[in-house]
Formats: sequence, structure tokens, C-alpha cells
Amino acid sequence: MSDRPVRTRFAPSPTGFMHVGGVRTALFAWLLARQNHGQFILRLEDTDQKREVEGSAEHIIESLHALGLDWNEGPDIGGDHGPYKQSERLEIYKAWAQKLIDADRAYADPYTPEEIETFRQQARTNKQAFLYRNHRPENQPMWDGTTPLRFKAEPQAYTWHDEVMGDLSTGPEVIDDFILVKSDGFPTYNFAHIVDDAEMQISHVIRGQEFLASMPNYLNLYDALGIKYPVFATMPHIMAEAGNKKLGKRDGAKDVLDYLKDGYLPETMLNFIASLGWNDGTEKEIFSVDELITAFRLDRVQHSGARFDEKRLEWMNGQHIRQLPLNDLAERVEPFWPESAVGSDQDYKLQLLALVQDRLKTLADLPTITSYFFAEPTPDWTMADDNKQLRKLSPDEQRQLLQQAHDTLATLDDFSAESIQDTLNQLLEITGQKPGILFSLIRLAVSWAPFSPALDQTLAVLGKDRVLTRLQTAISARG
Ligand code: GLU
Repeated sequence: MSDRPVRTRFAPSPTGFMHVGGVRTALFAWLLARQNHGQFILRLEDTDQKREVEGSAEHIIESLHALGLDWNEGPDIGGDHGPYKQSERLEIYKAWAQKLIDADRAYADPYTPEEIETFRQQARTNKQAFLYRNHRPENQPMWDGTTPLRFKAEPQAYTWHDEVMGDLSTGPEVIDDFILVKSDGFPTYNFAHIVDDAEMQISHVIRGQEFLASMPNYLNLYDALGIKYPVFATMPHIMAEAGNKKLGKRDGAKDVLDYLKDGYLPETMLNFIASLGWNDGTEKEIFSVDELITAFRLDRVQHSGARFDEKRLEWMNGQHIRQLPLNDLAERVEPFWPESAVGSDQDYKLQLLALVQDRLKTLADLPTITSYFFAEPTPDWTMADDNKQLRKLSPDEQRQLLQQAHDTLATLDDFSAESIQDTLNQLLEITGQKPGILFSLIRLAVSWAPFSPALDQTLAVLGKDRVLTRLQTAISARG
């Protein structure tokens, strides 16, 4: 751990959607900052203009907001170390590049792509690794900005610590001259992120595994620039559900905003994504955001790949939904009610929510689970014919049982779940039926849905009038 104030950053390139891996990097950096009362910084790395996707920066910002990952400095809110968009920092990179030129640690790269290809061919023929540093121009031309500016490395062995990967070391052979500034005037990621992290006083660099191989080159550049290393933490890959490959777009891992639209809670997404490669060392699986802030430790992130498991995500969402206070749940499900619920009484909806809360895996399950509470369902007796228990009864018996249920329930003044349950128990005795048959029959006749919450409560929430009418309708519809 570093003794500097904790300042972490999320530095996305605006090149596409906000995938789970990106969110995890942002989340871990955010958790660390919040836990240490430090700062979390958003920086847009938009120096690769060819790869830029329009609207992507806005999309990233919207996604972070939706998840509640707030930042202290960033392109939209400014801060003391701005600008926070790399394309607006070109002068800063130029000044740092000049320092390297002055120290004879950078040179104008005079070669055309064809010439470089020839060097590559030569290396191949000689069975040698191709290295740019074997082709430094003898008479270094002045760099006028029309050619790339290349770093003049000083190859050496490195040993360094990564909070996740542990102690790592490499030999001098992996170090090479790399481009600092491209011929279009934009810096490379390799150069810009080191300058920015230093200027923005970033204490911890948390990022994906794809950058690990470049670490020796980065360390060489830190040394050349006289910049103290930040703490490094490399995130393991997220693996697809099946097989041994990295999670890709085709593996069902959607954009994080799509998960929210599909009825996943932001806190579920944070809990789930945090658990991809991290645990607190106990069996605990469900964490609130505050609990994550307290419990998170970089050195408890595993270094092997974490598996993305959509079923587990769904289960976790159910757990988080259960924990919501009813009023909070009511607010969140507002956009998910079935159309037939429009204009329904708020109390009725709340009662219903209390009834189904434990059964929701996503908020989007709400219409399927609740539609018959709002609109009259159409009787479909084939559902009884397809049911192993119910088809043991003849249509006559079915009608008779429903008529008995109707007549007994009609006598109730108190239509509470409790007194309904008493009545249902009496009916079992009178008719000599098993609950599995009688209750299923009544359940079907009032809902015409494949499943519903506990019968006594379902009937109580539906209310006496609806229940009696539906039983009557079911009886008449049984041919
Ligand atoms: N702009 C890089 C990316 O989006 C960020 C890497 C880093 O966090 O340093 O992959």
C-alpha cells in the first residue's frame, strides 16, 4: 500500500459499450477511493480517433451514474488536475515529450512502414526477435511533429510488485523503443497514461490484464521521466460461462445499462461484479454497497480468471430485491408494472408487491407474476387437463368443488388471509380432497397462471368480489 493520499482513476477509451470488465475496473478503483476517503477520477482516453465511437463517452458517464459510481474530478465536473479528456491535454504531453528529447531519451522515427517491414523480415530470416531499438537512426533528425516520436529505452531487468499478481520480474530483452507521440500529433496510450497519472497524482493504477505485458516498458519510461511508480493492480480476465475463454460480447454479457433495463438492481450489479474475482475470505455472498466499501481489499482479488455466471447474477438479484424496504421497491418497480395496472390503487399495488417480493428475480418479472391481479384472466381449462393432479377429477367434480369453494367463501365477512385459510382447511375436510388438488384447482380458477403466491394471500389481495366472480366464470367455462 502506498502512503500517499488515495487517488484512483477510471480511464476508459470512448470506443464502445460499457462491458462488465470495464465496470469492474471502475468499481474496484471507486471502492478503494471511498474506503480510504480519497478521490476517484474519471479520465477519458480519447487519443485514438480512429477507434472512437460517437456517443460512447456519454454512455460511459450515464452507466457510471446509473450504478452510483460517482467521481470527484472528471470531464463533466472539472477539478484541479484537468482537463480530464486526453484530446484536450496535447500541450501537456508535448512538454513532457520535450523533456525526453532534451535528455536524449526520445527520437524522431524516420522509417516508413515498408522499411519497418523489411527490418522485421530480416529479423525473421536471422531468427532473431524484432526490436526497434536495434534500428535507431544514426543521425537523429530533429522531431518536427510530422513523424512519430519514439522512446529511447534503456533495457534493464525489473522486479516489481502488483497488488493482485504478486511479485513479478522480467529481463532486459523485453524492453524496446515504443512510440510516444504519433504522426497525427496525438500521444499513445503508453505515454499519455503515465503523464496523466503523474500529473493527476494517481496513487493506484487498477486496470485490465491486457496491459501487463507492457509493464517493463512502462517502468522504463517512469524511470526516464523521473516519476515515482504508483501502486499497480492488474485485474484478472473475466471468463465466459462455459469453456476456457475470455468473456466476449457473444457470451450474454450485455451492456450494463441493459441489465438495469432488464430489471437488475444497481446494487446487484455492483455486488455481482465485485464478486468476479474478489471475496472477503468468508462465505458471505450478498454485500450492500456500504459493506463492499468496508470489506474490499485489492490483495484479495484473485489472479486467475473469474467466471461470469448469469444464473448466479439472477439469484443475487432476487436476494437484493428481498432486502429492499417495500416503499423503496415500489419506487423502483414503477416502470415495470403491467399495462393493466395503470390507474390501479396504490395500496392495492403495495399489498401485491409485499406478496410477490420474494418471488421476483428481476423487476421485469413483475408483469408475468401480477397481471391477473389487474385484468380478468381468460379461463383456459386445458391447463387443468395438462395438470397431473387436476386431470384426475372429472369436469363435473371440478365444477362441484369450485361451487363449494365459492359458496363457502361467499359467507366470509372477514376476507383476510387468515380466515380464508381457515375456510380452505374446512373445505379440505368437507370434500375429503388433498390440498395439492383442491388448492391447485382454486388457484387456477382465479389466476389462470402457471404459478402464483400462497393461495390464502392471493385470494385476500384479489378481494372477495373478484374471487367470487372468477370462480363463477371458471365454473361456467368448464364444458
Ligand atoms: N484507456 C484504457 C482502456 O480503456 C485504460 C487503461 C488504464 O486504465 O490505464 O483500456
